[in-house]
Amino acid sequence: MTPQMPAWLDPSPWLDGRGSTPADVERALVCDAPGPRELAALLSPAADPFLEVMAQRALALTQRRFGRTISMYAPLYLSNYCTNGCAYCGFASDRVQPRRRLESPEAEEELAMLKEMGFEEVLLLTGERTSHAGFDYLLECVSLAAQRFHAVGVEAFPMTTREYALLAEAGCSGVTVYQETYDPRRYVRLHRWGPKKEYLDRLEAPARAMEAGMRTVGMGVLLGLSDPVFDAVCLLLHAGHLQRIHWKSGITLSFPRVRPQAGDFHSEFPVDEAWLARLVFAFRIILPDVPLLLSTRERPEFRDGMAGLGISKMSAGSRTTVGGYGEAESMSEGQFEVGDKRSVPEVCTMLRNRGLDPVFKNWDIVFRDEEADGHG
Ligand code: SF4
Repeated sequence: MTPQMPAWLDPSPWLDGRGSTPADVERALVCDAPGPRELAALLSPAADPFLEVMAQRALALTQRRFGRTISMYAPLYLSNYCTNGCAYCGFASDRVQPRRRLESPEAEEELAMLKEMGFEEVLLLTGERTSHAGFDYLLECVSLAAQRFHAVGVEAFPMTTREYALLAEAGCSGVTVYQETYDPRRYVRLHRWGPKKEYLDRLEAPARAMEAGMRTVGMGVLLGLSDPVFDAVCLLLHAGHLQRIHWKSGITLSFPRVRPQAGDFHSEFPVDEAWLARLVFAFRIILPDVPLLLSTRERPEFRDGMAGLGISKMSAGSRTTVGGYGEAESMSEGQFEVGDKRSVPEVCTMLRNRGLDPVFKNWDIVFRDEEADGHG
């Protein structure tokens, strides 16, 4: 059965913006409080001649809000056990590949390697909740990571508010839950089996994390799964809904595209680099204060060009296999193919050569902690 989208998420009033005129785009670019109507205009074909203007605006806003800094983080895959059937993922339960999870000493080794590489922020990833890698396992890994890292995030299965609160208590400061696609029909088709089929449970997970006191929630869609304008407008509506209700927590947005992976899923809605760049510019213009992330899914030349041009946070040196940082040769297939295989020093050199400053410590958290201490 197709799930019912909540009324606040209905993008239909704004989708006409796909037929915007150049005058609509000009209006969107000078609008004081841009929203979904302006987003649809900036993503419309009428915005083609305005791309350079959008890029310059994105650059200026990024510099004004984030200076010349790029926050750096690293993903750490804890487990590739999964019971879900996401059609686009190399870890889906019908993909034949060795399954494993990191035991505590292995997780500590991988964390030590990331620390050695200079990281202060780590994102811990697992697949669906299973007997191999369930909540208690994740909680233990968060505790281990929090002993070493300044910021610990989790990208795993949707949890209850109580579970998110326990993660926060153990030192987790961020939760990432991508809706993948907001189109309910496509969602049900692409999530072939498993708990992830529950569209609304996933949709409500970021709100539960914020309710539990999580400092930041990472959101995004997997570009290539559905009509990207539909998904972009819904992502903005979802972010706005959360910001209104849970204003104490911050959000970050990410724009992953479908990558080659085990299972050979081919996108019916391919998004090219030019469109991805436009999407980043548009979100930077509409949400100037929100950190926008770009992962190593993308190729180096594209990442180099986008750093500071809307994008304010990047991963580097990433491995998408379980135990990947300690393996010279990968023992299993990753969740997806990495596009930028450069080392952390190589990425940092690139950023410095472009006048940017890679930052490994999240000062925002330090200031917030001090503020919290100061005011009891
Ligand atoms: S996307 Fe996540 S939940 Fe879906 S198959 Fe991959 S690991 Fe499992």
